Amino acid sequence: MKGEPYLFLPGPTPVPERVARAMNRPMINHRGEEFKGILEDVIAGIKQIYRTNANLLIYPASGTGGLEAAVVNFISPGDKVLAISIGVFGDRFANIAKTFGAEVEKMDFPWGTGADPQKIKERLDQDRNHEIKAVLITQNETSTGAYNDVKSVREAMGDHPALLMVDAVSGLAAIDLRMDEWKLDVVISGSQKAFMIPPGLSFMAFSDRACQVYQSNTNAKFYWDLAEGLKYQQKGQTPFTPPISLYYGLHEALRIMAEEGLDNVIARHTAYRNLVRASVSAMGLKLLTEDRYASSAVTSVIAPPEIGANPIRKYMLDQFNIILAGGQQSLDNVVFRIGHLGYIRELDLLAVLAALEITLVHFDFPLEMGAGLKIAQKAILNMHQQ
Ligand SMILES: *Cc1c(COP(=O)(O)O)cnc(C)c1O
Repeated sequence: MKGEPYLFLPGPTPVPERVARAMNRPMINHRGEEFKGILEDVIAGIKQIYRTNANLLIYPASGTGGLEAAVVNFISPGDKVLAISIGVFGDRFANIAKTFGAEVEKMDFPWGTGADPQKIKERLDQDRNHEIKAVLITQNETSTGAYNDVKSVREAMGDHPALLMVDAVSGLAAIDLRMDEWKLDVVISGSQKAFMIPPGLSFMAFSDRACQVYQSNTNAKFYWDLAEGLKYQQKGQTPFTPPISLYYGLHEALRIMAEEGLDNVIARHTAYRNLVRASVSAMGLKLLTEDRYASSAVTSVIAPPEIGANPIRKYMLDQFNIILAGGQQSLDNVVFRIGHLGYIRELDLLAVLAALEITLVHFDFPLEMGAGLKIAQKAILNMHQQ
């Protein structure tokens, strides 16, 4: 029996039944009292996940819309921007800034690793006249499964006045992030990753320092203009018609996260990462990232070259209805990616790992069936005995 797909993508992620039911309700007036209550609740709930008291706007857009909103509100044409990239999404943030007229200096680090804060410090130390107006960075690089130590990067910036703008779309609520404590200026995230709701919403929080920069911003903007967003938010509204169903879902998802507790949500993602990495390694497969850079949201597994990553994905889809992500660009057919963020339960992990073992044996990979699964079962037992 096939049934629903097992979704192990690093977004979109599975939607809990509670969230799906919450979304299946009649439309209401988006300029009425009931919507106002929902908006206030969800803004407060998202701020808790950001660990911030800063301003926060919700946009009806996928994560990339949030990145564009950040660029047009805080970067002016001609501004010099240092864009740190460790993969596809770091490149995307840099490209958006370039598209809107920034003078972008890329700082690339090898795919599968995180950025070296010392190198960023050295570059900013050279910028004595403070020409660099913003540093762009990805918290969790979804394309490789490596994450950046955003806290250390912020510390490395020292007194340099550039804004630190963080793409936390796939990392927030999976990997620790403390916007206020770490003094992050702009943090963007999205609905379809650890927030457990369908694609279509992005969130942008911004510090007082960023608000100052906005005052003199000269980029063209209409839909993304934060002043409009804030003006309407005071009335309990959004400037334009919001995707009301997604707000229902967000409301419920934030309740689920609050019930579990944010620290527990983060700890769960960390435990899943460790479980998946140990299990896959015990099968004799190699991982793309070293432990110190390893993401709690998604794991990139290097496929045996004689098999290739895409045939493994195809077999798992055809035989088990399991959906894994492929490698992007140079990693195509080299790695497959197992997403373990959002609404993934521990026994879901056993399903994907068991199916992976069956698949490897099918392709004559030398593996004693159960070798990796056993490690995962022991890890789960440990989690329950703590
Ligand atoms: C998913 C994701 C985005 C946004 O992609 P969309 O397809 O626009 O939702 C941005 N950055 C990262 C790191 C992501 O994982």
